[in-house]
Amino acid sequence: MKYKDFGNTGIKLSALGFGAMRLPVIGEGEQEKVDLENAVPVIQRGLDLGINYIDSAWAYHNGTSETAVGEAIAGRDRSSIYISTKNPLDTEVKEWRKRLDTQLERLNTDYIDFYHFHGLMWREFKKKVLPEGYFKELQRARDEGLIRHISFSCHDNPRNMIKLIDTGEFSSMLVQYNLLHRLNDLAIAHAGEKGMGVVVMGPVGGGRIAFLSRLQPREGRTVPELALRFVWSNPNINVALSGMGNVAMVEENAATADIVGPLTSVEEEDIQVMLDQLDGLEDLYCTGCGYCMPCPNGVDIPTNFLLLNYARYYEFGEGIAQSYNLGLKPAKASADFCIECEECLEKCPQNIPIPERMRDVVEQFSQEPQEDTDS
Ligand code: SF4
Ligand code: SF4
Repeated sequence: MKYKDFGNTGIKLSALGFGAMRLPVIGEGEQEKVDLENAVPVIQRGLDLGINYIDSAWAYHNGTSETAVGEAIAGRDRSSIYISTKNPLDTEVKEWRKRLDTQLERLNTDYIDFYHFHGLMWREFKKKVLPEGYFKELQRARDEGLIRHISFSCHDNPRNMIKLIDTGEFSSMLVQYNLLHRLNDLAIAHAGEKGMGVVVMGPVGGGRIAFLSRLQPREGRTVPELALRFVWSNPNINVALSGMGNVAMVEENAATADIVGPLTSVEEEDIQVMLDQLDGLEDLYCTGCGYCMPCPNGVDIPTNFLLLNYARYYEFGEGIAQSYNLGLKPAKASADFCIECEECLEKCPQNIPIPERMRDVVEQFSQEPQEDTDS
């Protein structure tokens, strides 16, 4: 495992971070909880392979992600592990501060290394975080030793991200970056210049990059490996978070993290092929995060976009149209059932004009075969 200096914090973090948001679970929706028996060994395998940064959040897996992390670190040398978690600004300040105590309990620790405002926007920082005392609460918690660093995760536009960086109040930030989503390049470079630690989420685009059909990377790499190598070749990125749900995935990613370093000329050429292929996809970069859901009209927004991208850019052929016409449509979850109420619009961190794109989905699949003609 390769380690990198984490901005000016004096800490060295593993290039691969463990994202504790895709752990094995039991149940669905509000009943979903981490399957501790299966999840804890996955996190522990990561620690054994040298990962020293684990990222969780108040809401991941209905709060049980933090519990799983707490179990995974029990009995280990706490000083060699860096715990990151987040707290969203969806409640008033007193309640919000109380969550920190619950998180410490769940995480089975006396302190949290990197405590994030979850999904912070510049507008919120100015209008809510500062005037309503959220920031003061965290400064107090830091003085009391309950947290070590104040950080933010962010889906705001790069201009506003830079404004957050320029406040000088944060040790690190967690933002999106991968081959498909390079919009934050400048903000990441700016954070690097200012000595902030930079962690990126979605280094392989929530798994979507893995499905590219036209690329066969050379030098024995898989597409996700190449995507990770691309992220790690950026000197301003310290940690790439991967949401890992099984031991095989941990081992595969950890092996790739062993070769962090400059890209070879062959890798550069392969990446250029990927970038050319991805140009079209940037137009509809849905990470599948599900923040837009539920749709009051039953439309499964992320699946519709996934199928559209599969059909348009991944060249998966007729099977995709069948998934749409024979799977989504009868379940009344296809784009045909979008009534353009716009309730989802504000919720998408990628600023996708969802109702407009839903029309593209309908158009795409109305041109495709409706039935499996072989049957
Ligand atoms: S605009 Fe369409 S997809 Fe979005 S919430 Fe309304 S019906 Fe659902
Ligand atoms: S449309 Fe936006 S909010 Fe919905 S799943 Fe995709 S990226 Fe997430």
